[in-house]
Amino acid sequence: MELVDTAALVDASAQGQADRDIRLIRLAFRDLEEVNGIGKKSASALREMGIDNVYDLISFYPRTYRDRSKSTTIDELVEGHETTIFARVTSVELQRLRNRRTLVKVELADESGTIRCSFFNQPWRAKQLQPDCEVFVAGKPVRYKSWLTLSNPIVDIIGKPGSRRTGRVVAIYPQSDKAGISTWDIETWIREILRRTGEVSDPMPTTMLKRNKLVDRNFAIKNIHIPESMDSCYLAKRRLIFDEMLRLQLCLMERKDFLEKNVLGIAHAPEASNPSSGRLVDKLIETLSFDLTNAQLRAINEIRADMARPIPMHRLVQGDVGSGKTLVALCSMLVAAEGGHQGALLVPTEILAEQHFSAIRNLVGELSMPDSQTLTGERPYRIELLTSSTKLSERNKILDHLKIGRIDCVVGTHSLLSEDVKFSSLGLVIVDEQHRFGVDQRDVLRSRRGDDLVPDLLVMTATPIPRTVAMTVFGDLDTTIIDELPPGRIPIETIWLRDDESAAWERVREQVELGFQAYVVCPLVGESSSIAARAAREEHYRLCNGPLKDISVGLVHGQMAAREKEASMQAYRKGVYSVLVSTTVIEVGVDVPNANVIVIEDAWRFGIAQLHQLRGRVGRGGEKSWCFLLGDPGSTKGSTLDQLDELDESSKAAMRLKAMCDTNDGFALAEQDLLIRGEGSVTGSFQSGKSALKLGSVIRDRQIVEQARTAAQLMISQGWRRDKDSELGAEIDYLIEEAQAGFLTKG
Ligand code: ADP
Ligand code: MG
Repeated sequence: MELVDTAALVDASAQGQADRDIRLIRLAFRDLEEVNGIGKKSASALREMGIDNVYDLISFYPRTYRDRSKSTTIDELVEGHETTIFARVTSVELQRLRNRRTLVKVELADESGTIRCSFFNQPWRAKQLQPDCEVFVAGKPVRYKSWLTLSNPIVDIIGKPGSRRTGRVVAIYPQSDKAGISTWDIETWIREILRRTGEVSDPMPTTMLKRNKLVDRNFAIKNIHIPESMDSCYLAKRRLIFDEMLRLQLCLMERKDFLEKNVLGIAHAPEASNPSSGRLVDKLIETLSFDLTNAQLRAINEIRADMARPIPMHRLVQGDVGSGKTLVALCSMLVAAEGGHQGALLVPTEILAEQHFSAIRNLVGELSMPDSQTLTGERPYRIELLTSSTKLSERNKILDHLKIGRIDCVVGTHSLLSEDVKFSSLGLVIVDEQHRFGVDQRDVLRSRRGDDLVPDLLVMTATPIPRTVAMTVFGDLDTTIIDELPPGRIPIETIWLRDDESAAWERVREQVELGFQAYVVCPLVGESSSIAARAAREEHYRLCNGPLKDISVGLVHGQMAAREKEASMQAYRKGVYSVLVSTTVIEVGVDVPNANVIVIEDAWRFGIAQLHQLRGRVGRGGEKSWCFLLGDPGSTKGSTLDQLDELDESSKAAMRLKAMCDTNDGFALAEQDLLIRGEGSVTGSFQSGKSALKLGSVIRDRQIVEQARTAAQLMISQGWRRDKDSELGAEIDYLIEEAQAGFLTKG
């Protein structure tokens, strides 16, 4: 049966297309076994690899390419120089050595000569490298007696015995040894699909392709698999990445556009109808002992303007650690309260909830709200805390008061998401430290009003994220950036002590003597908080009896009861403790301005964002501060083929620590972080299942993300709407899978 079905042809002609192009996405309705050469067994192996239909297979892209014209011939090999050769296996021999060690000796030949490779302790190579296989082999030749040999080289098998690959550039697919599918199997099937599919249509308008200097779809799909040259392969890739990014951006912007046009929000205290509008914020600002930074003022004004519109606010506030986001959050709460609406502040941890709660309560102070129900015409601003350790009776009271509007603002953890939390008029939801919450969760609270109005939403990230990530992961939000720290902050000096940690403890002792305080953060040990707690207790004991003898040292860890934790934090805040030993519970948000030294043990175990957050605990008081990173990541080397292009864990760790020493700028660090770490964690939601981003990377392909965003903006402004019958619409429906669609289109 031919893959070109008649329905596709009818469609094509109905759209006035004279040619016989078919829509690529139609292959999603084609069974794998319809492809010549794919039997039951291969089909089920492919399914195991997440490839369910012919479309999935044709969009299973090569992992890398090898250019035969760039490979060296065997007679050109030079001792000690890393090179790639293309050759044929001529003989294979497996030797068993002492101590159950093995050696596989392989001889390779090309037209210029022969060379020997040895593989230690990889007995499976004897099966993998059959005589007559065609392979690319990369490594550094070493001289052994008078021979050049390659020891444990990287190998890509590209042709099985008997087959001869043609073409200059060879695509190498991710192989699955377990499923028994090799790169040449995949290439063979894909050639077959391409042959039978013929020309495919292009859903993107020619003007857009021209404007963005993109090749057409047909060229792209052929050249990603069977490149004419490295250049054409590059062009193909660029085009297909653009498609991926455009589909995502269209989804995000369509959602944004839909909300703006169809969902009613609350017009908070519009200036005209409420002469007292903004009074509360101004009153608060007057009571502060410091001036707001320009960036804070700008953020507050943007938020106010958003909130005054009858369209639900949907805004992301990004600011570096210590830039004063809490105050911005509070001002937004006051704008809501002024119009008689409630606010909810959702934070990821209990400690942080308590911290925010007391910070806001302090900031609010004696601030009073206009209230015609009272004799004085005023009443205090009312704020409550709701977490999983709130006592049941207290919790019930809070729930009652929320329901009848006796509470203006509730700060809480996941407990706020519970079904029984109802509001009299929820007007603003603020989600702090967003990356810890699922995107669905940020929408839960928004549906907690009794009517059709949707409360405003403000998302605040704990640490900055790169622009293109924000565009993609938060692409449906407007963005405010707080790019200024309060004045008088002296940059924190960060020092990495690989082995001798005494300098850190000396500094702690010196600063404590001067009346300052310090944090000691214990390493991340395993997943279990009980192990972490034990480590913290032991470290506390060691420090009290050793390096920090005679200093008052407190302890806080995740296994303590909430009350105990709070008591420890309180004692530290009050200066009863000069040093606080803790697990990462202090990671986010804790604010003790008198602390100016932080010592992070086994710092290499932490990610950059976490380190930056931790470091942000000091340098808040206008005094010189220090951050000590302790520990040596050691060296472990990856050895498998797929790790070739990746750094091993210890060099990544070293790069992280070095980056931390080099800069205090959270935005710069965020970029570094993603370069080192890859971006899976940030864009994880796009990479599950039928990944929307198979080729594209929001970090590496920054420029394409920007282009796609502009293109999507233009399309939406020109009235583009997803139509499931259009090719682009069908692609979005299929490729932006359920889970993603859920998050992308939820109102
Ligand atoms: P983050 O953005 O990390 O959440 P916070 O809101 O916790 O930062 O603020 C950090 C510290 O800076 C707090 O102690 C806060 O009171 C203080 N702060 C906030 N804004 C200013 C300002 N404009 N001038 C001086 N200090 C400020
Ligand atoms: Mg904060």
